[in-house]
Amino acid sequence: MQRPALSIVIPCYNEAACLDQLHARVSAAARAAVGEDFEILFINDGSKDDSWPVMQRLSAADPHLVAINLSRNHGHQLALTAGLDLCAGEQILIIDADLQDPPELLTDMRAMMTAQNADVVYAVRRKRAGESLFKKVTAAAFYRLLDRVTDTAIPLDTGDFRLMSRRALDAFLSLPEQARFIRGMVAWVGFRQVPFAYDRHERFAGETNYPLGKMIRLALDAVTGFSTAPLRLASHAGLVLTGLSLLLFVYIAIGFFTGSAVAGWTSTMLVVVLLGAVQMFVLGMIGEYLGRLYVESKRRPLYLVADVAGPVQGRATLGF
Ligand code: UDP
Ligand code: MG
Repeated sequence: MQRPALSIVIPCYNEAACLDQLHARVSAAARAAVGEDFEILFINDGSKDDSWPVMQRLSAADPHLVAINLSRNHGHQLALTAGLDLCAGEQILIIDADLQDPPELLTDMRAMMTAQNADVVYAVRRKRAGESLFKKVTAAAFYRLLDRVTDTAIPLDTGDFRLMSRRALDAFLSLPEQARFIRGMVAWVGFRQVPFAYDRHERFAGETNYPLGKMIRLALDAVTGFSTAPLRLASHAGLVLTGLSLLLFVYIAIGFFTGSAVAGWTSTMLVVVLLGAVQMFVLGMIGEYLGRLYVESKRRPLYLVADVAGPVQGRATLGF
């Protein structure tokens, strides 16, 4: 198969209102960078709005556009995986559909890739416009916590917006896991990766598809995927609590021999509640790993494709 110079991969969930503008801006940015030698992949992740009909209309009029319709909503990271599997380019740009990440930065990112001989140019958010304080604070806290617990150095304040070389992408595609935290997996792959600072814009239209529940899930995938520190939590907590209970034992023994022991409801309750909470938390963390182990062991396909519109030759699409 002949590889285009550039593939642009865009997962879309309920983005009908963004697609026309997205298509226009991404096409213009791609033309400015590589002339006509590019492809754009829209992945419809089981949208409930008109995203798929809009994609079909756009791809009928543009031979550069491949539109892929997943069988249902598989989630951002898996929709992105589908696009990365099916794209063919020598260089690959990952970008969100909502135009929060300006496609026009492509030229500068490509220049940086060449100048620094890099395999991955990842975009680091300097500012995030139009996002709630809650989102910004939780995101900042999350990236820092992740950095502390993981063994892989995952860049701070970095989303999936990035430019990759074919060899970095092929290496990434050899990672088979179900619970995917793509920015971490790309970091794990290694090669030469360089940061590119930019200001994140507001959404062009629509609302975030990452409510708190999905954010927590992504965070748990990230932590469990790249660290086993939480599993060691039980032994650490056990050590600290053993120390504390020894002190308590001395205190009680003194009370017993001096006859000053009081019938203590408060301290008993405190100990019971504290131990219960620690045990529940640790059990829950073990459950998170165990659940993922179970899901991995089923070896199900990561996603299923229902339809493809546009130039599909040479693409092996699962379920199509
Ligand atoms: N997305 C997706 N499937 C989902 C949720 C989101 O493909 O289940 C896409 C969405 O269309 C967008 C990207 O993932 O292109 C990032 O989502 P969003 O902009 O809602 O997240 P935020 O920028 O608010 O973190
Ligand atoms: Mg967004």
